[in-house]
Amino acid sequence: MKAIVKPKPKEDQDWPIGFSIIDKPEPKVTAPGDVIIAVHAGAICGTDVGIYNGKQSLRKEMMKALTDPVTVGHEFSGRIVDAGKDARKHITRLIVQKAKSNRKLKARIRTKTPASLASDKKFAAFLEESFYATAEMHVTCGTCYQCRLGERHVCRNTVIKGVHDDGAWAKYVKVPAENVRLFYDREIPPDIIAFMDALGNATHTVMSASVKGRNVAVLGCGVQGLMAVAIAKYAGAKRIYVTDASSQSVSHDKLVNTRFALAKHYGADACFDVALESERRGMIDRVRSDTDKTGVDAAFEMSGAYKAYDDAARILRMGGTFSLLGLPSGTHQVDFAKNIIFSGITVHGIIGRKVFQTWDQMEELLKAGLAKMLVKTGFVTHQFPLDGYEEAFAAIHSGDAYKVLLKP
Ligand SMILES: [Zn+2]
Ligand SMILES: [Zn+2]
Repeated sequence: MKAIVKPKPKEDQDWPIGFSIIDKPEPKVTAPGDVIIAVHAGAICGTDVGIYNGKQSLRKEMMKALTDPVTVGHEFSGRIVDAGKDARKHITRLIVQKAKSNRKLKARIRTKTPASLASDKKFAAFLEESFYATAEMHVTCGTCYQCRLGERHVCRNTVIKGVHDDGAWAKYVKVPAENVRLFYDREIPPDIIAFMDALGNATHTVMSASVKGRNVAVLGCGVQGLMAVAIAKYAGAKRIYVTDASSQSVSHDKLVNTRFALAKHYGADACFDVALESERRGMIDRVRSDTDKTGVDAAFEMSGAYKAYDDAARILRMGGTFSLLGLPSGTHQVDFAKNIIFSGITVHGIIGRKVFQTWDQMEELLKAGLAKMLVKTGFVTHQFPLDGYEEAFAAIHSGDAYKVLLKP
């Protein structure tokens, strides 16, 4: 099968920029818990761009890879085409569970139990035709202290498929059954399921604070920031303030006419180009006057720019929540006494998705209308076949793309 790969970096050798597409053997069920998924679409995120460009932090991560070369890509949707013995049992349990809250599926499986479903001769065809699947691509050990506490998102032995092991930008991907998420009969469009990994990061960030009826700020209006705005709106936020900074590559007018316009469509009340001192002051004044000088309840840092941390300190209320998803480079000085202790704020570092709490929350929001809105507003801006991946990355590097899909 065709697969997009990157060689495992070697200590004493250069790590080439870019990817290559090669012919690889199709993955097979080798363990009882294995599931094989035929990929409908893969999606590209910032981590993939970092791997493509040979970013140092990702080179270090990929030196731990279990295979060489590594099939990249960790965002995807597809159809289950094979499953090991235990995997089959697990999947049938997921289906019976899902039927409890899905009338159409309930009518379809009637009184079937997981065991009778698993032994049904037509089960494999039913599964392949009626469900789309994706997976949590952080594969966790299940035995470390955090895993035993149910905090799988901070497992200390996490293997990320598409980074440390074969991922999804290929015709087929193999995943552990316990990481699979199933969707019946287009309950969420497969092109949206393809980037639930990324949407899950934004959901985890927004849900780390209580947002219902609260005022929030989203710092950074890229793909993650835009998703955070939409999620905050669907989660019932009262007012949403958004910041981003124009630059040499993205002019002020372009920022206002594209990303800020979309943010407003998704529910932002006001957007500020903080590269302009007048707008930065305007943001602080606006939040103060709207909130009786209190400040916002929560700030979500999606930009990875330390400058945004300083903005957050100016607009976050005492006792507020500051949740950090964007990855800054280097270090930054923080006045802990003034900005954290005396302010009584809570700071959350956001890694991955809570397994599976974040997935459940995201699924609710998507079904409540978020998925339709993402489709209607063309959040997926580009689609390419697997071997068009160079064009896909060119579209991302141009700054004009939001979500880009690769279809085998
Ligand atoms: Zn990602
Ligand atoms: Zn663990």
